[in-house]
Amino acid sequence: MNILELSREGLSKWFEGLGEKPFRTNQIIRWIWEKSVLDPEKMTDLPENLRKIMKENFSKGPYVEKTAVSRDRSVKLLVRLEDGNAIESVLMRTAGHVTICVSTQVGCPLSCTFCQSGSTGLERNLEASEIIYQVALARPKPRNIVFMGVGEPMLNWVNFKESVLRLQDEAGMSQRHMTVSTVGIPGMITRLAQELPRVNLAISLHAPTQRLRERIMPKAAKVMQIRKLIEEIKLYQGMTGNRVTFEYVMLDGVNDGLDNADALTDITDGMASLINLIPYNPTDCASYRPSNPVKIRFFLERLRSQGRDATVRKSLGLGVDSACGQLRARRSDDE
Ligand code: SF4
Repeated sequence: MNILELSREGLSKWFEGLGEKPFRTNQIIRWIWEKSVLDPEKMTDLPENLRKIMKENFSKGPYVEKTAVSRDRSVKLLVRLEDGNAIESVLMRTAGHVTICVSTQVGCPLSCTFCQSGSTGLERNLEASEIIYQVALARPKPRNIVFMGVGEPMLNWVNFKESVLRLQDEAGMSQRHMTVSTVGIPGMITRLAQELPRVNLAISLHAPTQRLRERIMPKAAKVMQIRKLIEEIKLYQGMTGNRVTFEYVMLDGVNDGLDNADALTDITDGMASLINLIPYNPTDCASYRPSNPVKIRFFLERLRSQGRDATVRKSLGLGVDSACGQLRARRSDDE
């Protein structure tokens, strides 16, 4: 058992079992989240015998095995889990704040054709403690969390939700500073509205029609028809009033035509939304090419001319094995 496998409540019970005072729980949580210290031996205001007991009872936990720094100063972390699997998270500096992008699964079952993470399929879900660990290992401490790394968070709902609630309670992070990204799993966007209404929603859309979605993300398109997805997003907006972000990766000659921009305008009609165009990072396993920047600019202008709020995402992480899942895949090749 590692130290983050115990929630605040679990830690309290554990200390109670040792006959320790209740304030020890807050003391440990402060060490972890205010001082970024996870090693009990370095928690210097604890009695020496307690540090020794903790050292004997808690394993080392996940650790950062490798970091890769990009030209834009984003940092990709390869985190080795206790069972030997590896996951990745990315630290980015945006608008004066640090944002961390965390993974929620080892691998991904959805196998979108442009994404390296899905190429190896799903290994397993991450535990809530493993999701939280990615944040605890980050330096400096992030203000924002995006659940957009490897995996589909809505297929690991229980652990995703627990990680949100624990990060709020133990790390003092606001749900307003958290964003979850999903391809759309029936019923789960409504569940987000009911159970975590302050967490922001991003949709990995990437294609504006069912036919094109079936081509580039066939499993996701089969799990939920685009018409149903849009209906559920509208329901979500009615329940929460939250603006929704649509993620749209720009693939040369595939989804970057002006007819695609018009279709995207149509399906987002009547919604408070931001369309985020993402320049594609080529991966080893996909045959797509990135759209030409001029084409992206035309696409963007077309959306804006039709009243859509749209932007082009700065390609954070380019140049450091940056496509989603690539660092993990590269490391596995090395082994
Ligand atoms: S794009 Fe997202 S949902 Fe699709 S395979 Fe990659 S991680 Fe999974």
